[in-house]
Amino acid sequence: MRYALVTGGSRGIGKAIACELAMAGLPVVINYHSNTEAAQATLNEITERGGQAELLSFDVADPEAIETALADWEAKHPDDYIAVVVNNAGIRRDNLMIFMQNEEWHNVVDTPLNGFFYVTRRLLKNMLTHRDGRVINIASLSGLKGLPGQTNYSAAKAALIGATKALAQEVAKRRVTVNAIAPGFIATDMTRDLDEKELSKMIPMGRFGKPEEVAALVAFLAGDKAAYITGQVIQINGGLYT
Ligand code: NAP
Repeated sequence: MRYALVTGGSRGIGKAIACELAMAGLPVVINYHSNTEAAQATLNEITERGGQAELLSFDVADPEAIETALADWEAKHPDDYIAVVVNNAGIRRDNLMIFMQNEEWHNVVDTPLNGFFYVTRRLLKNMLTHRDGRVINIASLSGLKGLPGQTNYSAAKAALIGATKALAQEVAKRRVTVNAIAPGFIATDMTRDLDEKELSKMIPMGRFGKPEEVAALVAFLAGDKAAYITGQVIQINGGLYT
């Protein structure tokens, strides 16, 4: 059976993606880092709506933890494989570069960028063997435009876009597609501290996006109809162009 793995699938955009894919009929592995309560709530919501899902906790920045968790998952699922991976886990630690601490830089690069590398490399072999795979990377407007106060986050997301384009060319012949989605401002815990009313004034649509709007795009890229789309960065930002 084909499964989807959503990193950081317990809250925000990842939660909406996990729900959307499960409602589309894919069993979903919901990865999270530490907030077990939120992960359990997401799992309950999916199962109550008739979807199939399970939890798998690991830190996407820790290659040994990833290996242990995924090897364990595979041992419990001898006839299944992960055909869709959504590299969504990410964090923000904003600071002006002149004040930025090493830790703020490394933590932000470690999560979305190194996490993409460790998780995707681990799952790629099975996708290539089955000639069936979808890698969907959640980048950001910040990785295209660069945003002040986010040199760490912009660098991680820009690198994720570069890796998306390179990997897409490596694996296209095996019918594995690799795409990135670059959301603008989406209303989640991550953007809770921002002045939504003020920032919405510069968005042509006049509002932040909803996690479900990003999830619908992910579900499209994960499906059969998107088989010929690869190496792309699709923006979803209410018209807030770079
Ligand atoms: P969020 O609400 O803060 O949720 C973050 C999720 O990532 C949680 O499920 C969290 O799990 C998980 N996570 C964090 N660090 C992790 C780690 N080291 N290993 C595994 N899981 C980890 O964030 P969001 O707004 O939904 O953002 C999701 C993605 O979209 C991120 O990559 C973000 O950069 C990107 N994005 C967001 C926006 C926006 O406006 N919100 C815009 C553009 C791009 P725990 O709860 O267990 O820590």
